[in-house]
Amino acid sequence: MIIDIIFISLIGACVGSFLNVCICRWPDEKSVVSPASHCVKCGKSILWHDNIPLVSYWVLGGKCRFCGEKFSMRYFWIELLTALVFAGFYFYSGWSAVTAAYLTLACCFLVTVFTDFDRRIIPDEVTIGGMFAGLVFSFFIPALHDVTARGSWLQMHVMSLGWSAFGALVGGGIIYLLAEIGDLIFKGVVDKSFLKEISSRPEELFEDLVKGGYLKKRGYITSRFTRLKNHSEMTLSPSFESDKEKIFLLVKDCLGTMGGGDIKLMAMIGAFLGWEKAILTFLIAPFFGIIVGGIQKLRTGNSTFPYGPYLVLAALIALFFGDSLIPWLLNQYGWTPDYDPMIQSSFLPR
Ligand SMILES: [Zn+2]
Repeated sequence: MIIDIIFISLIGACVGSFLNVCICRWPDEKSVVSPASHCVKCGKSILWHDNIPLVSYWVLGGKCRFCGEKFSMRYFWIELLTALVFAGFYFYSGWSAVTAAYLTLACCFLVTVFTDFDRRIIPDEVTIGGMFAGLVFSFFIPALHDVTARGSWLQMHVMSLGWSAFGALVGGGIIYLLAEIGDLIFKGVVDKSFLKEISSRPEELFEDLVKGGYLKKRGYITSRFTRLKNHSEMTLSPSFESDKEKIFLLVKDCLGTMGGGDIKLMAMIGAFLGWEKAILTFLIAPFFGIIVGGIQKLRTGNSTFPYGPYLVLAALIALFFGDSLIPWLLNQYGWTPDYDPMIQSSFLPR
């Protein structure tokens, strides 16, 4: 038992080391395979024996062996967190195919949380890749959707795949509808790289937009911008005056588009957890959002926040407690379906 936990934690730490690379590179659409890990300052490759998860950070004192550049301590924390997540899922479902599926989902969640907080980007590699992984896992592991043996082998596996696809559709669909109904939650963010499209001096333009009060320092669009009726009301430094309309439209394009990443994230969650738990995730997430968004509003006066991390938190609650939460919730509304917690997808006739 203890050996198992140590073993799975070590695997987790190694995977965490890889996730660090994904978190750094995917938002910039860079390959996670090449070039090999290197120091951003001196460019020297990190030696294999300096790249041992958890350990190397402390051996080297968090610095580059060659030039002494300090590495962020976050690399270490993400490795540790991944190790703990792996151990946690081992506790939950032991050595099983289901655990392998949930660990894949958990890795996608880890990348989502950090890239969304850092950059307000949820990479497609995670969400679309994750959704396909969910479909494939669901086909091979009917237990994920509690499809019990009935009919032929193929029928059982195809049925599980079907529930997964339906989950992706429902999960992505509800966020899509919400985003359509009125950008109520997502105000949006401008990434500096977007500005390259319209200006050869994206850095300067970004600063100018911040100075004008249209963007916060990290690119969040402010209500000052959303109140503008058209580009002529915008004030920018003279050098950008001629491109004002283009700039206005680009920032406007970024409004609400953050729903895009969240739609795909929810589709992935639905593919792994099924449609009931996707809806549960959708219902729980705003509570975290309101609490954290409220605190942020008090602290910085800006209530925009990345929504991905709250969807992740809510999805974890749905994963671990959904089987008892869903019947309990339905009970509160006076609906007591013939619900067997062992058979998740029993609301629809089959
Ligand atoms: Zn270096």
